[in-house]
Amino acid sequence: MTPSPVWHPFTQHALEPPMKRIVATEGAYLFDEDGNRILDAISSWWVITHGHRHPGIMAAIREATEAYDQIIFAEFTHEPAEVLAERLLAFAPSALKHVFYSDSGSTAVEVAIKMALGTFHNRGIARDRIVVMEHGYHGDTIGAMSAGERGVFNAPFEPLLFGVDRLPFPEAGCEQETLDAFEAICRSGKVAAILVEPLVLGAGGMKFYGSAVLSALKEIAGRYGCLFIADEVMTGWGRTGTRFACEQAGVTPDILCTSKGLTGGAVPLAATLCTAEIFEAHLSSDRRKTFFHSSSYTANAIACAAAVANLRVWQAEPVEARIAELAAQHAHHLQRFESDARFVNARQCGTIAALDLAVPTGGYLAEAGPRMRRLFRQRGLLLRPLGNVIYLMPPYCTSAADIAAAYDAIDDVASIVLKETAS
Ligand SMILES: *Cc1c(COP(=O)(O)O)cnc(C)c1O
Repeated sequence: MTPSPVWHPFTQHALEPPMKRIVATEGAYLFDEDGNRILDAISSWWVITHGHRHPGIMAAIREATEAYDQIIFAEFTHEPAEVLAERLLAFAPSALKHVFYSDSGSTAVEVAIKMALGTFHNRGIARDRIVVMEHGYHGDTIGAMSAGERGVFNAPFEPLLFGVDRLPFPEAGCEQETLDAFEAICRSGKVAAILVEPLVLGAGGMKFYGSAVLSALKEIAGRYGCLFIADEVMTGWGRTGTRFACEQAGVTPDILCTSKGLTGGAVPLAATLCTAEIFEAHLSSDRRKTFFHSSSYTANAIACAAAVANLRVWQAEPVEARIAELAAQHAHHLQRFESDARFVNARQCGTIAALDLAVPTGGYLAEAGPRMRRLFRQRGLLLRPLGNVIYLMPPYCTSAADIAAAYDAIDDVASIVLKETAS
């Protein structure tokens, strides 16, 4: 068979076996061409919330195709985008008043950074620094990468990345250092915005921090007049136990980025929500103060209809109860690993559970990662450890039996990999 011309993301094709084709999805499962059923325990890279092909969302997509495709979003608007904006603002923290659409988490972050800088530029205030957190991840476009952790992923692009100010990650017991560092940078008077993933740093290794840090960061930002940007691309839509993670800290950000779960994961869409002040800073009879940003597929009408259907699911179905039940399942199963010498730092935030395999060399490129991935696949389980960090982020429809089986597989695979690394 000739090799496929397809170049896959985050894939070293020289080291990976040929890819299996997925022929169908349903609920918590992927079905491959060989007839295997695979439990999608990472929600297909964190996008699927309720489950694959939720009937209400799929029906809304079908229905939308009867009337719409892509419609230019300057000069015109459409019903799905208008209804979605209204309902999204009602769903999100209450001071957010405007919705700017785009098509991925990375673009939602780019838009947020541009909104923040545009706001100060339009007001004639010289502030252009962006403050971020160590180990952060905000996407893979140049701007989003600039704000994220530097490392092996972006070394070739380093010359193009712009400088940001980094706060140390608020490790338990050292939170004050993070806050002091932020306040020290704020005193320069140059900070336009702080950009953080609230409560959970996802791609940076499922690192969790408390809501008190989040609210303290917001308080400092407010005191120094810098904008607070919450990158809720992963944490939104129930992942951390609440609709958005910011709610747990009682924080309303000035700008909120959402994507992944916005359509329940069915089709791509993103939104950057902002306060009236930010919108009004771009409102002027001077055309130079326009917010100059657009993606060709801004507010795709079919995707907007899918997102409206997702919000209907949140209203009509016991989504919060499913999330609470999933969180309880994690808590139950994690107990057995808490004093297990094979693991360090068993932790949980809502529907996300993580634990680090106690191998001598950690980090993303740790050989244990790909080895575990293969062993999980042999057990009908899709898990992609971040180096030695094993995590579960399943769709909310995942059954208790499947969650239990996933933890059994972790138990099993950890022993195999540790035995191999020891020999
Ligand atoms: C996934 C992710 C992004 C990027 O989203 P894409 O849709 O992959 O561009 C940005 N921020 C966070 C926190 C993410 O987890």
